[in-house]
Amino acid sequence: MAIRTIVKVGDDVLTKKCRAVEKLDDRIFSLLDDMADTLYESGGVGLAAPQVGVLKRLSVIDVGDGLIELINPEIVKTEGNVRDLEGCLSLPNKWGYVDRPQKVVVHSLDRDGNLVEFEGEDLLARAFCHEIEHLDGILFSSHVDEFVDIDEERKK
Ligand code: ZN
Repeated sequence: MAIRTIVKVGDDVLTKKCRAVEKLDDRIFSLLDDMADTLYESGGVGLAAPQVGVLKRLSVIDVGDGLIELINPEIVKTEGNVRDLEGCLSLPNKWGYVDRPQKVVVHSLDRDGNLVEFEGEDLLARAFCHEIEHLDGILFSSHVDEFVDIDEERKK
């Protein structure tokens, strides 16, 4: 397990479409382990493989309820809408309001290649959307009209 360097905005790797994982092997598992280490070290809630320079459809998320590993994830259902502040480990100190579904259902593979279903609401729904967009080379900033000062915003 190791901490990997988080790629910052401006690097092309963040705007490319990631390839599906075809073989679940030790290389993928150790990448997932490293991504989890890197996520916990960063203090963020989600990290996608392109953020550590790897163009594969993998993400890790933890909103405080335990680690979720996503392998070839897909959003299969969305419901509602919530506008809230969002940030990204690849865009340090950039925060902005983004509309996301209040609830999403996600299909993913687990490490054994089984289909697993996750349901997320609010922050978890937001994290699913944000991380899965990374796999298509989309950054949350493309949804933001104006970035905000997070310290001022939290005082409100
Ligand atoms: Zn991000």
